Amino acid sequence: MDALTWHGEGDVRLEDVPKPEIEEPTDAIIEVTATAICGSDLHLYNDFMPGMQEGDVLGHEPMGEIVEVGDDVDELREGDRVVVPFTISCGDCWFCENDLYSLCDETNPNAEMAKEAMGHSPAGLFGFSHTLGGYDGGQAEYLRVPHADVGPIKVENDSLSDQEVLFLSDIFPTGYMAAENAEIDDGDTVAVWGCGPVGQFAIRSAWMLGAERVIAVDRIDERLEMAEGHADTEVIDYEEEDVYDRLMDATDDRGPDGCIDAVGSEAHHTCAGSHDEPDRPYVLQEAVKSCRKGGTLSIPGVYIDEMDGAPMGPLMNKALTVNTGQTHVQAYLDPLLKRIEGGEIDPSAIITHEADLADGPDLYDTFNDKEDDCIKVVMTP
Ligand code: NAD
Ligand code: ZN
Repeated sequence: MDALTWHGEGDVRLEDVPKPEIEEPTDAIIEVTATAICGSDLHLYNDFMPGMQEGDVLGHEPMGEIVEVGDDVDELREGDRVVVPFTISCGDCWFCENDLYSLCDETNPNAEMAKEAMGHSPAGLFGFSHTLGGYDGGQAEYLRVPHADVGPIKVENDSLSDQEVLFLSDIFPTGYMAAENAEIDDGDTVAVWGCGPVGQFAIRSAWMLGAERVIAVDRIDERLEMAEGHADTEVIDYEEEDVYDRLMDATDDRGPDGCIDAVGSEAHHTCAGSHDEPDRPYVLQEAVKSCRKGGTLSIPGVYIDEMDGAPMGPLMNKALTVNTGQTHVQAYLDPLLKRIEGGEIDPSAIITHEADLADGPDLYDTFNDKEDDCIKVVMTP
């Protein structure tokens, strides 16, 4: 079958790989009908993530049709249309029972490798290195889904297109959890760094959760325009204006109540010490500096290892609350599908590129370089 595979920095290929088979009685196999490229895939593309091996199948934002189930799968059957969360969770461990699905203790067979490389072991993830379990990803014609009763959500409403529900796999729950993690109260001002796909969903979710003002930061025109086009979002182009000064002006010098870092390791390219912006503070430093005393910092952006200059002094002395983590996708599937069905949000609005899986290698380049007004790529195998 066709799949997109990893071959080192900036090298994604379309290759013929073996079709997956049921390995455990709790597995299901899906025929993928739509699959997206995520900002997290760019950490692999840029070779930030330890434990990648040549030929690894990429992708963790897939959906499709069940074509086979293992003997112990009760909730799904052949023909079901499902969206698959990027987090692989057992459903039974202490973490899953407490709805902390992305911290599942049972689904990373390489937990020791993860502890050595990253100091801890989160759940296994699709297409995200051997450090996180070595699971093949969903940028492929077929995908093996372990713990199939715990992850995938059935979409029975045929009037919803793949494009409308696909992002339940990751970025809609991620943006939503990011906004929840900002602990928004009525009347709050929320600032969002990064207007990529995750930032776009964080912005929409902040409005849904009752923010009075949402201020978004980026430097890419079409991403700022998309943010500005939603509700009354205000935007700051960080190449044109000082972000801290604008945020202070906007909040009577108090700072935003909630600050969301939807950038993550991407900041290696745009912040301190980088070739583009040698003097710019890291997003996290800027967010801590800007956040009002006693406010909340929410970090959906992915950081992989230690980051120099973590602003511990201001963080402590401003009494900030920090909420972060990979998204507990399973906990959000039902409520967010209801919001889509109820017409509160149309996730497909952020798609800018639709193509065949075969175009994947080129689209990785385009998405990484933020060329061709690219904000979100969806592919069909
Ligand atoms: P993306 O790369 O498309 O978007 C990042 C955006 O940040 C870009 O628009 C970029 O211009 C902007 N940016 C870069 N430097 C900036 C700076 N200094 N200030 C303000 N904006 C800046 O990626 P995405 O798909 O939107 O993902 C964003 C982050 O969320 C990534 O780190 C990704 O790994 C992470 N993510 C986390 C989870 C989770 O479970 N927590 C899930 C999915 C994605
Ligand atoms: Zn993702």
